Amino acid sequence: MASKNQIHVGPVAVGGGAPVAVQTMTKTETANLAATMAQIRTVADAGADIVRVAVPREQDAEALKTIVAQSPIPIIADIYFNHTLALKAIEAGAHCVRLNPGNIGGPEKVAEVIALAKAHGTPLRVGVNSGSLPKHLRELEYENPIEALVTAATETVELMERLQFENFKVSMKSTSVPNTIASNRLLSQRIPYPLHLGVTEAGTKWSGSLKSAVGLGTLLADGIGDTIRISLSTFHAEEEVKVAWEILKALKLRERGPDLIACPTCGRLQFDMDRVVIEVEQRLEAYEDPIEVSVLGCAVNGIGEARHADFGITGAKDMGMIYSKGEPLKKVPTEQLVDELFKEIDRYYAAGKTVQRDESAAAEARRWLEENEDATAMTPERIAALEAAAAENDASAAEVLESMLDGADQVDDGPGEPVGAPSGGDGAAAMDETVSPVAGRRFSRS
Ligand code: SF4
Repeated sequence: MASKNQIHVGPVAVGGGAPVAVQTMTKTETANLAATMAQIRTVADAGADIVRVAVPREQDAEALKTIVAQSPIPIIADIYFNHTLALKAIEAGAHCVRLNPGNIGGPEKVAEVIALAKAHGTPLRVGVNSGSLPKHLRELEYENPIEALVTAATETVELMERLQFENFKVSMKSTSVPNTIASNRLLSQRIPYPLHLGVTEAGTKWSGSLKSAVGLGTLLADGIGDTIRISLSTFHAEEEVKVAWEILKALKLRERGPDLIACPTCGRLQFDMDRVVIEVEQRLEAYEDPIEVSVLGCAVNGIGEARHADFGITGAKDMGMIYSKGEPLKKVPTEQLVDELFKEIDRYYAAGKTVQRDESAAAEARRWLEENEDATAMTPERIAALEAAAAENDASAAEVLESMLDGADQVDDGPGEPVGAPSGGDGAAAMDETVSPVAGRRFSRS
């Protein structure tokens, strides 16, 4: 359930239907102004909406004044144990202070922080962590860790409400993905406040990204979560931001920059797609528009499969195809595919986002495609369609394939029996070998 309440961290609205905000945390010593500001600018460029900085010492609280003044995005001061630092962070102008009321030194000190936060209009992020639940919940934690986490969070919320403070968001962190999902689902039904999501200590870039995508992605797909932070064991905080954006883009919750579609490749791959897809991804980083670009390994399948892509390339033999919205634009030698793709994209933007078509080049590309397309090749997609159609209609696989290849009767059926293998599993593989004259042909990586 989406949060009802909304707060503002600097100019960034959080909760109450606002777009899910991307957050990260600097990895520098906060008082090292040069290093901290450099990292804040890097994460802001990568798309962070909000950044948190650790404030464990007096000099870090002192540095906050300059950081807040110079930062292009709102700053959250991260405080543990020391309520004096929380007071100093608020006075330094931090846009938000994160603290755990359970470890800040008792109710009086929490009340002191709340009073100053109210006076300055500073929101707080209050939360609980599975690793530091209050003593009275330890037994419950053993029996029911999800209920223990949610109880700790609701007790924190009740404390805030007793102090007549509602300018806060809540986080509930666990290293367990299932517990993160279950506890946030439960908490979202019990409180109206914005929720910050994260899987704490998720791990390395690879495993941490996957855990976060599963945990946060599940909650976000349910409409739960107002800010997210991907915790990765890397000094490069911008990597956390990139992963957060990929999760939001995958769920179509927010748009930022191009969307790259790439096939997984298979035995029909006819060019060095590993290299090409990496190069396309890197070069797309220079574009801010949410343009969709596809890179697919073979012409037989590529154009149809990515007909929604704004631009795309497919490989085939020594030539490749550049197309837009399923229509060929031109054919180019494989080694020029990436450069020519970006020339077309740049022409599109130079013309005010209008695809520039050269009809003679497009006609030549279509002719070339007709001559070179392997219309009988059993692509994974064709096999799946064949199986589905055969299962649904109880038609013979041969009939289904015949209808799929309607209009491709100029193509030689190749050696052996034309079609007729049973659908599914080994049958489909056998059919592939029988029907397709290029079955098993591979791009050879030198
Ligand atoms: S058949 Fe599909 S997966 Fe295989 S190379 Fe062509 S587009 Fe990629």
